[in-house]
Amino acid sequence: MGENLLIVVSAPSGAGKTTICKKLLQTTPNLIFSVSMTTRKPRDNEINGQDYFFISTEEFKKRIKKNDFIEWAKVYDDYYGTPKKNLEDSLAGMDVLLDIDVQGAMNIKKEYSDNAVLIFIAPPFLEDLKTRLSNRMTDTSEEIEKRFLLAKEELKNILNYDYCVINDDVGVTVGKLKSIIIAEKNRVKRIGKELLKKLEVEDA
Ligand code: 5GP
Repeated sequence: MGENLLIVVSAPSGAGKTTICKKLLQTTPNLIFSVSMTTRKPRDNEINGQDYFFISTEEFKKRIKKNDFIEWAKVYDDYYGTPKKNLEDSLAGMDVLLDIDVQGAMNIKKEYSDNAVLIFIAPPFLEDLKTRLSNRMTDTSEEIEKRFLLAKEELKNILNYDYCVINDDVGVTVGKLKSIIIAEKNRVKRIGKELLKKLEVEDA
């Protein structure tokens, strides 16, 4: 009952978002991941079509022209975008999880104001980000520094989100995200009218 949700999760690089999203997907029924397209090179552990669709800059620009993206953004030096068709097909039957940056989140909120739920995952301490970025060791030190500086900028956007979850512990954070999803699915604005109709009660 009720419309499907677009769960938008943003976090600065190194806040543990990828792990959190994977755990959330494994343990939440009816939730599917929106696989973005990017011009970034794949990291060692990433699978094309699962983590991202890795495409060339030329192909990405062609797709912008064809209006293939619901939203797209240049993050660091690469392009990232949410394919429109995949998202709409998924949303017809399931809730959809999007792992996108703050620019994308704002655009999704504009486009899908009724269905979008924006969640920001924040690190408990800023220094944690640098440690996690360095531990990942998939990026160069220059890249790490660039991501760290942008992360500080991104934190300013917390105030534009619906929820903010501080990630002290992955398990607890995933639990909080699930609670948010459950609460959002039970909001009167989503299910009230349909429920009254089902119960054959006229609304006031
Ligand atoms: P990464 O290169 O670490 O995978 O992602 C870099 C940033 O791009 C992250 O903040 C991630 O959420 C964001 N991102 C990934 N896919 C998309 C997308 O389709 N649209 C937008 N706007 N941002 C994205």
